[in-house]
Amino acid sequence: MSRPVEAIVNLANIRSNFALVGKLAANSRIMAVVKANAYGHGAVPVATALAAADAFGVASLAEAVELREAGITQPVVLLGGVFDRDEMHDVVRYGLQIVVHSGEQFGHLLAAELRAQIVVWLKIDTGMHRLGFEAQDFAEIRRMLEISGKVKEVVLMSHFACADDVDNATTGHQLAVFETAVASLPGEKSLANSAAVLAYPQSHYDWVRPGIMLYGANPMLRPLQAHEMLVPAMTLRSRLVAIHNIAAGESVGYGEQWRAQRPSRIGTVAIGYGDGYPRHASNGTPVLIGGQRVALVGRVSMDFITVDLTDLPSAASGDEVILWGDGLPVEEVARVAGSISYQLLTGVQKRVRRCYLF
Ligand SMILES: *Cc1c(COP(=O)(O)O)cnc(C)c1O
Repeated sequence: MSRPVEAIVNLANIRSNFALVGKLAANSRIMAVVKANAYGHGAVPVATALAAADAFGVASLAEAVELREAGITQPVVLLGGVFDRDEMHDVVRYGLQIVVHSGEQFGHLLAAELRAQIVVWLKIDTGMHRLGFEAQDFAEIRRMLEISGKVKEVVLMSHFACADDVDNATTGHQLAVFETAVASLPGEKSLANSAAVLAYPQSHYDWVRPGIMLYGANPMLRPLQAHEMLVPAMTLRSRLVAIHNIAAGESVGYGEQWRAQRPSRIGTVAIGYGDGYPRHASNGTPVLIGGQRVALVGRVSMDFITVDLTDLPSAASGDEVILWGDGLPVEEVARVAGSISYQLLTGVQKRVRRCYLF
């Protein structure tokens, strides 16, 4: 048997999460965000499975080209726009749409010789202060885009900083800034990420842009409600490859970071940070063996972790171990590892075999 690490990706679950977006934002079109290899799930299989998506969002030209070369025909939007002028040629060649968030990008667009007009997603900074034009300049930039002759259509967009936290007043403020800036402007509008799809219906506008929720992770700080049921798409699993009985007082793993308080049965699982399992997962982080939770003990190493099997005497070498997914939300593992679901999912490495369920 080869090294037993696998990420099982259930494409039917992704479709079901997509359908939930459609229900929650019934009057909006859906840009499925598949950047970072569809948050680690595989951009081409995911985009292929989402035939009903109205568009796809990616972070780079290379990610967009990958979709086009796989035969994906829906609109594909470069969410960060282009990073230099030369990329404009491929934008036209591959029929892509671009975000324009800065004067520099605006310059690339004006300077490019385009053989076709393109769709531009013009980004306004409503308070996140990461990307986008300032609200007071927005109408003028939009007008200049219009008269440039390069643009077929302008979609007005912004991005939320705190939509995951329903108690944070910043989201309401960003909504108000957006509403004021775009009120008198023609064109489609887009604001909502996953959290806003769930929590801020007034932000749905013409296009919603869900990412993480398609993959079944809860984007909110609060638990999901009954009508918001997302299903995890990825189950990361491996197997127990060794078991050691150790005496009380013995330590486990690098740096002797965990020491047995009692005679203990330690299982070694073939998964490590070289696969994308978070190195900062602390003692006590749960893993699932035969549906039972057992605790990670000792430091995560590159290829292995160690778990405490003392209270699970039935566990045997070769048993399947679930690191997250079915029965163990990735958000929960992320929390105890001082991370977020996004980072864990996108961090699943190339050496982890992806297996697709349709
Ligand atoms: C990544 C991204 C999204 C999706 O965010 P989620 O929190 O994963 O839903 C939406 N819009 C933009 C501009 C993004 O970069």
